[in-house]
Amino acid sequence: MAQPQMRRAIESGVPDNQPYLHPLLKKNYGNWRYHDRPRPGVLHHVAHSGDEVWTVRAGTQRQMDVATIRRLCDIADQYAEGHVRFTIRSNIEFMVSSFAKVAPLVAELERSGFPVGGTGNSVSMIAHTQGWLHCDIPGTDASGVVKALMDELYEEFRREDMPNRVHLSTSCCEINCGGQADIAIIVQHTKPPKINHDLVANVCERPAVVARCPVAAIRPAMVNGKPSLEIDEKKCMCCGACYPPCPPMQINDPENTKLAIWVGGKNSNARAKPTFMKMVAAGIPNNPPRWPEVSEVVKKILYTYKADARPWERLSDWVERIGWPRFFEKTDLPFTKYLIDDWRGARANLNASTHIRF
Ligand code: SF4
Ligand code: SF4
Repeated sequence: MAQPQMRRAIESGVPDNQPYLHPLLKKNYGNWRYHDRPRPGVLHHVAHSGDEVWTVRAGTQRQMDVATIRRLCDIADQYAEGHVRFTIRSNIEFMVSSFAKVAPLVAELERSGFPVGGTGNSVSMIAHTQGWLHCDIPGTDASGVVKALMDELYEEFRREDMPNRVHLSTSCCEINCGGQADIAIIVQHTKPPKINHDLVANVCERPAVVARCPVAAIRPAMVNGKPSLEIDEKKCMCCGACYPPCPPMQINDPENTKLAIWVGGKNSNARAKPTFMKMVAAGIPNNPPRWPEVSEVVKKILYTYKADARPWERLSDWVERIGWPRFFEKTDLPFTKYLIDDWRGARANLNASTHIRF
């Protein structure tokens, strides 16, 4: 009798990278002697076998059209050896087996508008969430903020003259996929959601929305004879978590959705332990298409850090050494009661929640 077939696992995660590796990377996988950087944007790896590989890193705009991808692939075929890979910050890397190929590859990339850099103590490419392009709940276009900002920090990507590596990130809502960074730009809602009561009964699972609120500010209610919801605005902390499961609870608003800047986050534990970011500027206008007010604050923080930090201090190490009062003095940012220790009220808030109790 035929045996039942084993069901094959359905894998939808990251594919195995081995078939796509440059042949020299595959041959020497995990067997490198040392690496160095001959110039910003170029890495040089030497294997125990004696093989050498040069990697040229270029910035991309991340959200790419087909023509741009074809152009990058043509460069890989003509000036590199037909293999590329992307870094987690959306840079593209080309691998070559001879130093003689590096200069023509760099020249062609720069001629085509792709800056070469993003290595060592540079401002690396800004990590961003998807914004209006992919997601259904953003309050701003994170990728647009990145484009506007990187146009201004272009030279800092191509050079390696920051005290240490600087990571920036942008996030287009307050609650989901935003990243830790030395300087992060994050959406900040400042008013509770406005409820469209005519739609709630048709669109929302009311118990699911009630359960979603981290501070138990939402209650079921009858409004105009229809089942709807109401918000205790004294409790609401304007996080926006109720909007994804219930779009009639609209929280995005051209006037009251702002941007905030957070600093000092890092995951690395190379010199000091990992740190969480703290908010240092709030209520910045969400002002497309160039967000000039955001650029002004970010550049102020970045260049004060550059001028004042000691070699190899990450932004959080620098703040730790000089202290928060001097951070605000040196950057000339106004200090208000809403900044830095925004977690102060959390214990009371969480104690009021239906789901989390201490
Ligand atoms: S940060 Fe929020 S709005 Fe932006 S892509 Fe992630 S989930 Fe969507
Ligand atoms: S989920 Fe957030 S925005 Fe919605 S009511 Fe609760 S605290 Fe306010």
